[in-house]
Amino acid sequence: MGKYDVINQALEGLKEQGLYNIIRRIDSAVGPWTVVDGKRVLNMCSNNYLGFANHERLKRAALRAVEEYGVGPAAVRSIAGTMSLHEELEKKLAAFKGTEDAVSFQSGFCANLAAIPAVAGKEAAIFTDQLNHASIIDGCRLTKAERVIFPHRDTEALKASLEEHKDKKVKLVITDGVFSMDGDLAPLPELVEAAEAHDALVLVDDAHGEGVLGSHGRGIVDHFELHGRVDMEVGTLSKAFGVVGGYVAGKREIVEYLRQQGRPFLFSSATTPADMAACIAAVEVLEQSDELVRALWDNTRYFKGEMAGLGFDTGASETPITPVMLGEAQLAWDFSKRLFEQGVFAQAIAYPTVPRGRARIRVMLSAGHSKQDLDYALEAFGKVGRELGVR
Ligand SMILES: *Cc1c(COP(=O)(O)O)cnc(C)c1O
Repeated sequence: MGKYDVINQALEGLKEQGLYNIIRRIDSAVGPWTVVDGKRVLNMCSNNYLGFANHERLKRAALRAVEEYGVGPAAVRSIAGTMSLHEELEKKLAAFKGTEDAVSFQSGFCANLAAIPAVAGKEAAIFTDQLNHASIIDGCRLTKAERVIFPHRDTEALKASLEEHKDKKVKLVITDGVFSMDGDLAPLPELVEAAEAHDALVLVDDAHGEGVLGSHGRGIVDHFELHGRVDMEVGTLSKAFGVVGGYVAGKREIVEYLRQQGRPFLFSSATTPADMAACIAAVEVLEQSDELVRALWDNTRYFKGEMAGLGFDTGASETPITPVMLGEAQLAWDFSKRLFEQGVFAQAIAYPTVPRGRARIRVMLSAGHSKQDLDYALEAFGKVGRELGVR
């Protein structure tokens, strides 16, 4: 037995089960049209909701920051890595979200890994939706708290579990705001009410609500007008914001505690000046105008309506995430491959990311798509759908 045998067998296993990821390569800036594996294609699967990934104002801000502050802080936040740009972004984010304070991290993933273990110690119980994101699952795994997984969007089940654990000193309810594979929303008003009745903390992961829901894209808490009633909003700066990074916005003492105890804040180096400056510019663009958010929703309504007209099942999404339900994984992969040949980049998503038999193409709409772009995509979907006998 060689020491790599187990890994080699696991790789073979992934290939045999059809779970081996074929990774496409991006050869240009990410925009509505993107060069992928050397071919210019219509990009229908980046999380670039507002076109910020290649936005002029963000790029200029990043370039200026490099000139002034260099390329990296070369330290963790708590030792020598906190630059004025980090503080400025955090102030701007808190004001934008309408929270008392905010702290930024290297990614949304890191924000969950920071927040959940810091808040939920041994004496805590965590209540987490069955379909929550992997970073929430991993954040929970890093705690010694008791974990209760409640059925997807099931507030009654949550209430029963909260009642059952009412003696726990700390109770933490966690949900995705927008569920990333289906595009459905958490029933946040009901969840918050249940949590309040049991004195539980609430963390909502707004990765796909940021820049999408609420006034000017302020997110799901704004959408449901729950300001002040959600203790922690986890956000990402790498989806609608188009850059990289994450944050927790919420109650002053929680944010203060995360600056003291959030492990990615203490033990992993700070994000770069270019990242922070671009994110500051993104918040400013959103504060000044909701034009891009409105364009995103116009595109979403148009595309979903036309897809339904073509006979496609686009699931239960309430957001620009548009799952085109196909069923078997092989069909979804064939579909994606044929779309690519037609000049449309839209990736298939299958088990284990979604349940078996629920494979799909997940289309991500963007404010950057023009009406002609969407018509181009619709034509390709129609053509490939006919060829493969879908609908
Ligand atoms: C993408 C995503 C994350 C991770 O954010 P990154 O900034 O990419 O690390 C966390 N939570 C949810 C729900 C997500 O969709």
